[in-house]
Formats: sequence, structure tokens, C-alpha cells
Amino acid sequence: MAKKKRYTTSFGSPVDDDQNSVTAGDPGPVLLQDVHLVHKLAHFNRERIPERVVHAKGAGAFGYLEVTHDLSKYTKAKFLSKVGKKTDLFVRFSTVGGEKGSADAERDPRGFAVKIYTEEGNYDLVMNNTPVFFIRDPMKFPDFIHTQKRNPATNTKDPDMFWDFLSLTPESIHQVTILFSDRGTPKTHRHMNGYSGHTYKWYNDQGEYWWVKYHFKTAQRIQNFTRQEAEIMKGKDPDHATRDLYDAIERGDYPAWNVEVQIMPPEDAEKYRFNIFDITKVWPHGDYPVKPLGRMVLNRNPTNYFADVEQSAFCPGNFVPGIAASPDKMLQGRIFSYHDAHRYRLGANYEQLPINAPKGPVHNYQRDGFMRREETSGHPNYWPNSMGGPEPDPTTAEPQFEVTGKVGRHAYSHPNDDFIQPRALYEKVMTDSDRDHLIGNIVDHLGNAKKEIQLRQTAIFYRVHPEYGTRVAKGLKLDITEVKRLAKQHK
Ligand code: NDP
Repeated sequence: MAKKKRYTTSFGSPVDDDQNSVTAGDPGPVLLQDVHLVHKLAHFNRERIPERVVHAKGAGAFGYLEVTHDLSKYTKAKFLSKVGKKTDLFVRFSTVGGEKGSADAERDPRGFAVKIYTEEGNYDLVMNNTPVFFIRDPMKFPDFIHTQKRNPATNTKDPDMFWDFLSLTPESIHQVTILFSDRGTPKTHRHMNGYSGHTYKWYNDQGEYWWVKYHFKTAQRIQNFTRQEAEIMKGKDPDHATRDLYDAIERGDYPAWNVEVQIMPPEDAEKYRFNIFDITKVWPHGDYPVKPLGRMVLNRNPTNYFADVEQSAFCPGNFVPGIAASPDKMLQGRIFSYHDAHRYRLGANYEQLPINAPKGPVHNYQRDGFMRREETSGHPNYWPNSMGGPEPDPTTAEPQFEVTGKVGRHAYSHPNDDFIQPRALYEKVMTDSDRDHLIGNIVDHLGNAKKEIQLRQTAIFYRVHPEYGTRVAKGLKLDITEVKRLAKQHK
């Protein structure tokens, strides 16, 4: 029989008794000298860390990415350098608006964050299960999220807040249409796709670069709940998707995703009919077909949820040589925000936590801070130095590209139209039953908002497609003449 481990304090000394506090006599007052008791109580009070402001409810798993197709002429990223190459990774799936205890079956976009532990550092792809987003300027993000959370006066979710903001933010309509389709309630985390949404830059050894978008397509097939099924699941098992992921991996039914990319030469970008740095837009597949790249498999569960899932920290700005940012304003905002959120939530040295630490060496001149686990030598702690300290490697620099213009607050000026793509989705991609569910889901939710907000939002649906607007108006018993008038007024 394996020898039992000896119970110790956090300082490593043996604990003689964990059932009886040290007292002066019996029953006796408890003595402060019982360090084990005091530390146990004090540590318990400190068990919670701030939950994520967004994406608080999540589930995670370990796995790998295997390259199945050679796209190395487009990127010098070593983890993508040859077919058959496998790189370890960690994935966290999440809802966005709910608190840490909220239900997995909520109507919400799903976070789909992947941390790939490459030999040249961690590459994070912080994606969603939708290819577009509600807004395209980070300035709007805190306001948008406030509207998805609780009303500060009533502390309840508020359909007026939710739809007031969206109806005043018409660029959200593409994402709203996806969110209110049944894709807004995926059956489980295993049954949804992940999309980078943002455009990224890939570059090779010759200094050539391309714009890319990632698509992680579920090998389990897309499966969604209807609104009614999601409502039941929220009550029956608020953790159903967390449980499903864990159980699937435990029974050896490892979920997988086919990883594909769309690749655009930089000279196309300027003349393309859509602004490729506007995250409310996709690149239609007919224009830029997806190319297969690899396969992601999840095959290991975390053993400590807090250490691995709660403390995992992703940032869309964690790149490796061969991959870089694009000028997408939302991406630029996120590149700041994610690191900042982790510094607040986990501390200045959060990259040293095992789940976040790169597998390769880390050598730089950052020093100290709370909870530092120094693994490099302390000296020298400045650059440049003549002591043989780590040196920057200019060969890893990304190719430069031209930017001109006046400094100022620029609204999106590209002549693309915010309604073409949701129209294509409504008209060409959705089936009759998808459209029926979409209308039902919208009517059920928007029906709880004030009439004036219902009218303003329905006018946006009308601008996407007259049938779309008319069906919502009918469901909400709105005056269609007023909807049409508002739709016209916006033009
Ligand atoms: P395609 O017919 O080539 O692609 C349509 C895409 O729509 C497929 O990728 C499919 O994803 C996805 N889709 C199917 N049903 C829904 C739904 N209810 N909600 C959201 N997405 C759905 O057409 P285009 O590339 O020309 O795009 C047409 C429209 O499809 C776009 O305007 C956009 O709204 C939507 N779309 C486009 C994507 C793209 O990257 N081009 C990605 C996702 C959506 P799947 O194959 O996984 O079933």
C-alpha cells in the first residue's frame, strides 16, 4: 500500500492535529499561537480572486495542434513549419456576460481561447464562436459590456439596456443576427466553431506578408440548442457544457477541430470591397476560400480547475515570429486590455504561473514585483550591458508596412455597408427553420424592451431585409409603417 503523505502547514512543518484548535484548557478560549488555525482561516478568506469582468464562466482542457498541411511559405512560425508537427496547447471556452456561477446555456457569444506553447514562446488565439463582433472600436467596449450585465439600480439583467445600446449601434447587426440564431446557444463547447474574427498578419523569412483569418471548425459538427431547450438546460444543469467537455475527455472521446485559414495578399486589402480591419465583417468564402492547416485535439483534463482554468491568462497580443497584429482597432484595444486585466486579476508576474509560463526559456530585464518566481539570474538587470546578458534578435522583426494620415478620432470611412453581410446570412445561408428560430428568439427577448427601443431595433432588421424586419414587427405587434419610416430615416 502506498505510504500516506504527511499533512503539513504551508510552511512545510508537520500538523499534529487538524480537528482541535489549541485552547487554554477545556473548553477554553482559542490561542493566537495556533499558527495552523490562524493561517488556515486567513487563507480561506483569501481563496477568491477577482473574477474576469467578461468571460467569467469557463471550462478548459489540454491538447495539441497538429499541422496537416504545409503553409510554411506564408509564415515562418516554427510550430507551423512542417506537416506532422504537434504542439501542446490549452483551451478555455467561456460565455461572455454571465458571472462565474452563471449557466453555460445562456444566449451569448462563446469565448474560444487557445494558448499554444510553441518553442518560440506562447502564441495565444483569443477567439469567439462567431466570426464577427458587435462593435469595431474599443472605445465602445466598456459601454457595450455594461449593457449586457446587470442594471446598476435593480441588479438584474435589463432588456432596455441591452437593446437600447444595440439599436443605437447599427454596426452590431451582423453579430446580433448570429447571436439570435440558434448559434447563440451552442449545444456544448464541443459543438461550436472558433473564429479569430480579427485579421492577423503572417510573414515569412523573405519579408513577404499576408493577411489571415483563422477558422477552427468543430469535427463534432455544429449542434445548437433551440431557445426552449436552452431554457430548460439552464435550470436543469447550469454547468452542462463544462461537464460535457470533462466527461468526453475522461471517456477518451477527444474533441477535435479542423483548423483552416483564409489568406489575403496585402495588395488585395486596399481595393477589397470590405474593410478587412473591421471586425463586423467576414471575408466571404467565395472571395477567399479557406485553406486547411491542421487539427486541434483536446485529450487531457485539468486536475485543478483554479490553477489551470481560473488562472489561465490569454492575450491576443501574444505572438511568435511569423505572426503579428493588424491595424484592426478592436484588436489593438484588446492587445492592451487583456494583459492589463491579468495584471489586475493575477498580479504583475502572472506569466510565471505554470499554466501561463512558456515552455521555452524566458530571458529579459524585468525584475521583481509581487509573487516573483525568479528562474533567471538576477544580474545584469539592464540593457545594454557588457556582461553577456540576453540580446534582442533583429531577425525576428516583422516586415514593416506603410501608414499615413492625420492624427485624430476617425470614424470608419470605408464605403462598405453594414447590412450586406447580415443580409447574405439571412437570405442565403439560413434555412427556413433557421429564420423561424431567429425571429422567435428575437421576439422573445426584444419584446421585453420599451416600445420605442423595439421600433428602433426593428428598423435595423428591416434595413437588413424587409422580410426580416416585417416578421419581427409582426411578432412584436409593431406598426410596420413606423418601422419603415425609421428604416428610411436612418439611410
Ligand atoms: P458561405 O455560404 O460560403 O458560408 C456561410 C457560412 O455561414 C458557413 O461558414 C457556415 O458555417 C455559416 N453559418 C451557417 N449558418 C449560420 C448561422 N445560423 N449563423 C452564423 N453562421 C452560419 O457564405 P459566405 O462566406 O459568402 O458568407 C455568407 C454569410 O455567412 C456571411 O455574410 C456571414 O454572415 C456568414 N458567415 C461567413 C463566414 C465566413 O468566414 N465567410 C463564417 C461564418 C458565417 P459552417 O460552415 O461552420 O456551418
